[in-house]
Amino acid sequence: MTLLANRVEQIKPSFTLDMVTRAAELKAQGIDVINFSAGQPDFNTPDNIIKVAKQAMDRGDTKYTAGAGTLELREAVCTKVKRENNLIIPYDRVLISNGEKQSLSLACQALFQKGDEVIIFKPYWVSFPEFVTLADATPVFVDTNRNKNFEPDENEIKTKLSGNIKGIIVNSPSNPTGAIWSEKILVKILKLAKRNKLVVISDECYERLVFDKKFISIEKLNQDHNIGANVLTCMSLSKTYSMTGWRIGYSFGDKAIIDGMTKIQSQATSCANSISQAAGVEALLGDQSMVSIMIKKFKERRDLIVFLLNEINGVNCDLPGGAFYAFPNFDNYLGKSFKGKKIENSFDLSNLFLDIAKVVTVPGDGFGAPGHIRFSYPVSKKLISDGIDRVKIILEQLN
Ligand code: PLP
Repeated sequence: MTLLANRVEQIKPSFTLDMVTRAAELKAQGIDVINFSAGQPDFNTPDNIIKVAKQAMDRGDTKYTAGAGTLELREAVCTKVKRENNLIIPYDRVLISNGEKQSLSLACQALFQKGDEVIIFKPYWVSFPEFVTLADATPVFVDTNRNKNFEPDENEIKTKLSGNIKGIIVNSPSNPTGAIWSEKILVKILKLAKRNKLVVISDECYERLVFDKKFISIEKLNQDHNIGANVLTCMSLSKTYSMTGWRIGYSFGDKAIIDGMTKIQSQATSCANSISQAAGVEALLGDQSMVSIMIKKFKERRDLIVFLLNEINGVNCDLPGGAFYAFPNFDNYLGKSFKGKKIENSFDLSNLFLDIAKVVTVPGDGFGAPGHIRFSYPVSKKLISDGIDRVKIILEQLN
């Protein structure tokens, strides 16, 4: 008998967190590292939110809450989704969790089991396949077209449909590409889901961090086009309000699914953190000006990093519509060598950036996207310029 259960072997550790750890270690040694690996804004949580959290502690909001979340926060979610997403959702179809990561994980636990298959699009956020695997189900990968906004082809999805497919995970705006999928492909996916009785799990973690046009939630498209697909929407306070450490995410959708997720959550963690829930009400209903300031800053940084990356010979980077990631392609450099050592893949290239240039990035192979590297740009414009300069100097030395 082995000490650990098989599921530990079956899943991969989060290598994005691994890069963050390596960056922190180098920094602690006093090394001048430029870190493009963090998946979080570089702003502090806005003061009004912090103030409300302090008041909650003084008031004694330090106890367990209702398993699905406080009524105040669930109602605040309803107000927010009406205001921002134009959706009317009753509070009993909302679940508050310890970060959206938990929402997504619970969704997979509640919906999938052995024998089920779940469609995941490549490039994918690293945790999607692991959530599915932990639920004993099987991820089925569908490629997207990097020359077409990283969108999939409807026919490609159709070829993967079988009686075992039960769900489909969509993440727009996407981590790692930053791409926002067009209404056209989303409507096609919703129709396919309806026809084949698939649940669509829509990870809308970056819904508010969009730069060029207004974001439309997939559930809103579902309603506007009268499709009637079963959509479970998952959203987060982490990125929008720079609250990654507070761990508040939420999901809404079909009551049976929300109830199933709530049941599992009640046995796994009881409820989300009470103080963060109180702060979450302020985040969703209070002053939103910080969000616009953040979006403006991210847009300037996006424009800068994409410009600088495309200036490098042989590097191609699309302009991402949202989130805070640039996802350039380095195919032209694979197969070349640095001081006699061959660069076989994006892991080698990302390691070279780290070892020699002290620039931390995340290799695309880990997102199912060989040849690409993810650059998170919630850093100052000066660091963006210096960091990309360092990358350029290294690339010029490859032969
Ligand atoms: N979904 C995506 C695509 C993400 O990038 C992240 C965090 O990086 C999450 C969900 C989870 O966010 P959180 O658990 O902080 O709410």
